[in-house]
Amino acid sequence: MHGARGFVGDTGAVMPPVYMTSTFASGNPDGFDYTRSGNPNFRLLESSVASLEGARFATCFASGVSAITAVVSSLKAGDLILAEENLYGCTYRLFERVFAKFGLRVEYLDLSRAENWAAIREGRPALVWLESPTNPLLKIVDIAGIAAVAAGVGSPVLVDNTFASPYLQRPIELGATLSLSSTTKYVNGHSDCLGGVVATNDEAWRERMVFAQKALGLQPSPFDAWLTARGQRSLALRMEKHCANALELARWLESRAGVRMVSYPFLPSHPQHGLAIRQMSGGSGIIVAELDCDQDRALAFCRRLRLFTLAESLGGVESLICHPPTMTHASVPAEVRRKVGIGDGLLRFSVGIEDAADLIADIDGAMREVIG
Ligand SMILES: *Cc1c(COP(=O)(O)O)cnc(C)c1O
Repeated sequence: MHGARGFVGDTGAVMPPVYMTSTFASGNPDGFDYTRSGNPNFRLLESSVASLEGARFATCFASGVSAITAVVSSLKAGDLILAEENLYGCTYRLFERVFAKFGLRVEYLDLSRAENWAAIREGRPALVWLESPTNPLLKIVDIAGIAAVAAGVGSPVLVDNTFASPYLQRPIELGATLSLSSTTKYVNGHSDCLGGVVATNDEAWRERMVFAQKALGLQPSPFDAWLTARGQRSLALRMEKHCANALELARWLESRAGVRMVSYPFLPSHPQHGLAIRQMSGGSGIIVAELDCDQDRALAFCRRLRLFTLAESLGGVESLICHPPTMTHASVPAEVRRKVGIGDGLLRFSVGIEDAADLIADIDGAMREVIG
């Protein structure tokens, strides 16, 4: 809450102004020159996110995808990225449809299995790319374990921390080199703008991120940076409620007839429950479940819900539901989807901060109508 201070100036305003300016008079004491390479609203957001991540530096971008672009564009043709196979769909698309054209190589592995870590030792990748929990399957990947193996061969490790948020998981403290978040999701938390951030303790990576922000034009709008910093002030309260609601809903779903599978990292039935409770301080707000029905009925169920809106994205105060095979992961080829376990009837709940009993009643009602 108190990370983003230091602007108070002459007025005593408790909240910072929005610095809607493209340029700055040269020779100003803070060294600003042009908003593509820095703005007071970026600096406020960056200092508070860095403090949340337990990192020395953070650099903000226009979106999570811009943040991914900043990191990957720092590599060069021929470099290898060793990636967890269950990746956010747009990350996969960026690797395969954009950066592959420039000679970047990406290999995908199930990094939740320690026997696959030998590939890091053998391949000495230019970057190891993790997500945990993964999208959309909520696999948990052992960040400290992988970071130790990668450090042995000098490979930097990036963790996409979007699903956990820096309130529940601090990858830099677990040994990762870079922690990336789409702040569009939990950090902002109000579904009113896009944003991304990369945190690190490594000065060379910090310089690469600042360079990418200005050289590739990946900077956010000052207003979006302001909105994100404002949203971030209530991150702790929101995350506590997301976690409590999601745990209650996940337990209820597990006991409900007509639900084939429920995945939530803080349920004892989750295959990596032990690792999840070591690595994260809460299970976050995402639940994945498979209803005992075909794809059409799963979509009909989504449309009958009143409190959950059928929409992409996650991490906002309002509950959303998504059908990954036709939405977030539609850009991943069907055979790849099946290989990583994204069945046609899978649903992803982004549990908001509404009353838990209302959310359960909404799901129960829609299930009675569509499934029984
Ligand atoms: C949404 C998301 C992104 C991309 O972020 P945008 O802000 O939508 O560009 C990257 N990684 C994960 C895990 C996400 O959920």
